[in-house]
Amino acid sequence: MTESSNKVWFVGAGPGDPELMTVRGQKLISQADAILFAGSLVSEAAMRWAKPGCEIQDSKGMDLDAINGWLIERARQFPTVVRLQTGDPGLYGALIEMVQALDKESIEIGVVPGVSSAMASAAAGVESLTLPEITQTVILTRMQGRTPMPEGESLAELAQHHCTLCLFLSITLLKKVQSELYAAGWNEDAPVLVVYKASWPGEEKIIRGTLADIREKCRAEKINAQAMIIISPTLGARHWSELKKSKLYDKTFSHRFRKAVTIDEVLP
Ligand code: SAH
Repeated sequence: MTESSNKVWFVGAGPGDPELMTVRGQKLISQADAILFAGSLVSEAAMRWAKPGCEIQDSKGMDLDAINGWLIERARQFPTVVRLQTGDPGLYGALIEMVQALDKESIEIGVVPGVSSAMASAAAGVESLTLPEITQTVILTRMQGRTPMPEGESLAELAQHHCTLCLFLSITLLKKVQSELYAAGWNEDAPVLVVYKASWPGEEKIIRGTLADIREKCRAEKINAQAMIIISPTLGARHWSELKKSKLYDKTFSHRFRKAVTIDEVLP
C-alpha cells in the first residue's frame, strides 16, 4: 500500500489476542505516527508493533467528539493515523459517526476488517455456526440497551427463525434473553455458549449451559462484561453421532473446482 496523502485507518484489532489481527492491520500499526485505541477492549499488546515515537492514546474516557477531534488533529499532522477498534470495525463500533466527521474535513479514510468476537467465540468453543439441514443462517444482534432496537428486530422476533444467534453487548441482560427466546418458542434445554474474553491469552472463559441455567452459571463465574452469547441448534455438534454432511465435500456434488464422480464411483 502506498499512500500519498494523510489518511486515517480504522483497523479491526480482532477479539483480543494480537495474533488475530490481520497482516495489513499489523503493518499499519508499524507505520502509524499516531494510534488511538479502544482501551477497554483492545489489548495493549497490539501496540508492540508501533514504531518508536508513535503517539499512542487510549480512547477510554473520551466521548465521540473528543475522538473525532483527536483523529482530525492528528490527520492534519501525520501521514498515517490509526483508530484501532475491537473485533471488526463495522460491528457496534460507531464507525460511521467517525467517518462522517472525517469526510466533513475531507480527510481520507480506509477500513481494515477484523476478526469479530462472534467468530472468535465460535472458534474458542470449536463450534460451527452453520450446519447442513440444521441452520444455514447466523444473526448478529444485541438485546435492546440504551440504543433502541428498530422495529421488527426484537430478540423475540429474530429468534423465531431458530437459526444461530450471536448476541453482543447483552451479557447483563440474560434474564431478558431467556424470556424473549421462550416467547419465540425455544426450549429450556436449548444449548447456549457464553465466551468471556474470547482469545485473550490466559483470560478466556468458556461457559456452556442451556437457556434455563446459563444465567446462573454466568453469575457463578462472575461474568458481566466482554462476553459473547451464542444460542444455536448447532452447538455441541462435535459430539453428535449423526451428522448430515456438507454438500461441499460430498463426492456426488460438483462445483466450480471439482467435478462430481458418479454414484457408481462412490459406492463400491
Ligand atoms: N466490533 C466488535 C464488537 C464491539 S461491541 C466485534 O466485532 O467483536 C462490544 C461487545 O462485543 C461486547 O459487549 C461483547 O459482547 C463482544 N466482545 C468484544 N470482544 C469480545 C471478546 N474478546 N470475547 C467475547 N465477546 C467480546
